[in-house]
Amino acid sequence: MKSNDKNNNLSNLGEFGLIEQIRRQVKSDSTVPVGIGDDCAATIIPEDHVLLTSKDLLIEDVHFRRSWTSMYQLGRKSAAVNLSDVAAMGGRANHLFLGVALPIDIDAADLEDFTRGFLDECSAAGATLCGGDTCRSNGPLIISVTVQGSIAANQMVKRSGAQIDDDIYVSGFVGDSALALAQLQGDITPCDYLILRHNQPTPRLELGQQLVQRQLANAMIDLSDGLFADLGHIMEQSHCGALVDCRCLPFSSELRQHLDRNPADIETALRGGEDYELLFCADPNRADEVARLSQQLNLPLTHIGNIKAQDYSLQRIDINGNQQQVEAQGFNHFK
Ligand code: ADP
Ligand code: MG
Repeated sequence: MKSNDKNNNLSNLGEFGLIEQIRRQVKSDSTVPVGIGDDCAATIIPEDHVLLTSKDLLIEDVHFRRSWTSMYQLGRKSAAVNLSDVAAMGGRANHLFLGVALPIDIDAADLEDFTRGFLDECSAAGATLCGGDTCRSNGPLIISVTVQGSIAANQMVKRSGAQIDDDIYVSGFVGDSALALAQLQGDITPCDYLILRHNQPTPRLELGQQLVQRQLANAMIDLSDGLFADLGHIMEQSHCGALVDCRCLPFSSELRQHLDRNPADIETALRGGEDYELLFCADPNRADEVARLSQQLNLPLTHIGNIKAQDYSLQRIDINGNQQQVEAQGFNHFK
């Protein structure tokens, strides 16, 4: 349906019509005795587990542009970036809550696409949308998602557990999302692969859970702010330093091709965020087990450096083999 279809605008559907439309699409879940429709949701988490809760805001023209993404992808990403935080603790994702402030020019078909994307991402994680809030925005489209997960209390992987000499690993490829964003900002249309990596990231829940089950990760974080910035968060909370060998970084063939032509853009790849891959630290004696897990999950897990003592700070070996001190900085909303 087109956006100018009179029967298809938001004012026609109304707040409660909209909520009802969302409610109808949510499948029943035995861990949700009360879901959408009451004053509160009632949810159940496994006995002896602690509740993991995380929230992320996505604001139009701060986090995304409506012209750069489909509403379906925006729905998926809104769930994915939250699910990624649960993955980074090694948890299971269970329940999500969706707050939306909608500009009046959004039509019902767009919103349906958004909801479909959001619910597809929830389903992929085995998680259920349990509630939210819906209102009008006189400004941008605002999406506020809360995710709740669970994990056995003694299995949680925090940012603070890195040990000196630990191997530092990242999953998948890094830098794709930042390259896509840079191209969009420069009025270049990224290739399908890059746009997908930016608009529809994959939360690494299975990896997080497997690392926990095998007790392989001493510290972990998801890559949202950028490789160096997020490693910086681990360094801060683990009171350690780190060395990253940029020659080892896992780049996709698309990013590699781009860097062949534009070598300086490696900085974008290193500083840019939103890959939503996991960065984790593991005992070097467990390298074989990490390699096996990588094979089993069919997901690259690449050793990119090592944890050092705190006074080492952050250093990198660049692609020419030169070692230098670097700042642990990435994206910062207030800079
Ligand atoms: P209240 O006035 O008590 O806050 P609402 O009328 O805002 O209740 O919401 C009614 C029900 O619909 C609640 O269960 C709420 O969690 C759910 N809900 C509202 N908006 C959304 C949304 N965007 N996605 C999912 N559930 C929603
Ligand atoms: Mg409400």
